[in-house]
Formats: sequence, C-alpha cells, structure tokens
Amino acid sequence: MHTLLGMSERISRILAIALFAATVLSLLSLRERVFSNSPISLSIPILMYHHVGDWGESRADWAPWVVRPKEFRAQMDWLVANGFHTITFRELLAGQKAGESVPAKSVIISFDDGWSEQEGVVRAELEPRGMHAVFFVYTAAVGATPNNSGYISWQQLRILESAGHEVQSHTISHGRLTEMPPSQLDREMRESRATIEKEMRHPVKVIAYPFGIYDERVMRAASAAGYEFGLRADADLVVGKPLQYRMPRIRVGYEDGIEVFADAMMLSQSQINAQKPKQ
Ligand SMILES: [Zn+2]
Repeated sequence: MHTLLGMSERISRILAIALFAATVLSLLSLRERVFSNSPISLSIPILMYHHVGDWGESRADWAPWVVRPKEFRAQMDWLVANGFHTITFRELLAGQKAGESVPAKSVIISFDDGWSEQEGVVRAELEPRGMHAVFFVYTAAVGATPNNSGYISWQQLRILESAGHEVQSHTISHGRLTEMPPSQLDREMRESRATIEKEMRHPVKVIAYPFGIYDERVMRAASAAGYEFGLRADADLVVGKPLQYRMPRIRVGYEDGIEVFADAMMLSQSQINAQKPKQ
C-alpha cells in the first residue's frame, strides 16, 4: 500500500527503530560511567515531525518529512490510548535539576523548521488531547516575507508558548554546520539562541542540528554556546559515547503506518523500562 520509498527503505526504518532502542539500552547501561558528572537522563523518546499534509505522494522526495493528517491523528490517539503524555525540554531540564527521574511514558513531540501550518496542526490535534509540542525554528525564517512565506511569526510562537508549547533553536540559517568556518558556526549557535531568548523571553537550551548534520566540532560549539542538548534527525546507533549533544530522534514519515509507529514507541519504552532500577 505505502510503496513510496519501497521495501528497502521500510526495512531500514525498522532497523533504525531497533537501533534507537539499542542506543537507549546501551547508553543507559553505560550511564553511570558516561554521565558520571552529569544529571542528564536520556530515557525519553523524541518524535520528529516536519509537515502534516496529504502532499507527500506528489512530491516523493519530501515523503520522509511529511505525515498524512489521518496518520498523524492515529499516532496521537495511539499515544493517548497507551498512556503517554508529552513533556517539553523545559520540564525535562527542570525535573533533572530537581533530581527527579523522567515520568513513565513521557514523550517529546518536536516540529522542525517553523512552518506556519504547524500551528494549526498543534491547535487541532495536540491541544484537545492535552499535549504540547516543541518547535525548532531557524531565526532567519521566522516571520520572513509575511503573507506567503509559509513561515511562522514570533507573535504566533509567543501565543503557542502561552498555551504550554515551547520554542528552541534550529540555528539562524539552516545551513550545514559541519561545513562552516568556526566563526560562522559559533554565530549560528549563539545568535540564534540570543534572538529566540529575546523574542520568547526564556532560556533556550536545546538545538536541533539542521539536516541532522553534526560532528565533534559542532557538538563542542553547541556546548560552548550554552546549550544543554543537541538533537539529531535520526535514531542510528552510537555506541559508548555520551548522547547529550547527539540525542536521537524518531523520524515519522509518510510511509509509516500506525503499526510501525506503535512498534517504535513500544520498543523504546520497553528498553527504557528495562533500565530502571528494580523496586
Ligand atoms: Zn530543519
């Protein structure tokens, strides 16, 4: 039925989901060693969305970044029916500072790039279910050429935050960070953070790397610029390394039915639960 990206893509997606679970498992089991000086817990799945619409079939190259509205609704219904609740990074960081563990069945729902359509999706599908989203915006696009740019405005974002949602950084320009000279990389990190903090009036502590492209230099720059977390765009396995600045996200794409989504969530959850101390 969903043959957009073919069987090999589907298999690779399932492998990525399994690897995400393996990542959580292997990293949490290494946690005492790897994060011995850090309060960071990674025991939460982070879902990554871009567009919600029916146009993925007409533009197959976008299919990994589009979810059908009816599939998105089914996914949100599944989360509610299975006892999941959303949290934001602000809540995650506050809980960790207070020494609290992440509540069971927490999930973070993230939307990248600041498309204005995301506001409608969040209003229509998340808010009636009592759910909150995290928006990763790149500051050059927010409010760009109003009327038909397709990008959300600072005012829209402020209204969303007043309803409990959250805005974090996706850089200034959405460029490839690994290809930038040090001064530009530093500027993308610091100025995007400063701009969002000025517009939204709260600390910005999380950055999602554009295209999920990062390396050691990018991670160091994120840390130096004051971020607490750096987020990828995939859930591939990273063995034996701290995940703080390479946190995996579960990409949900056009070809993913509710079964694939449920498998990913249940797998991540069972692996997270397996790591909790026995009572
Ligand atoms: Zn992006």
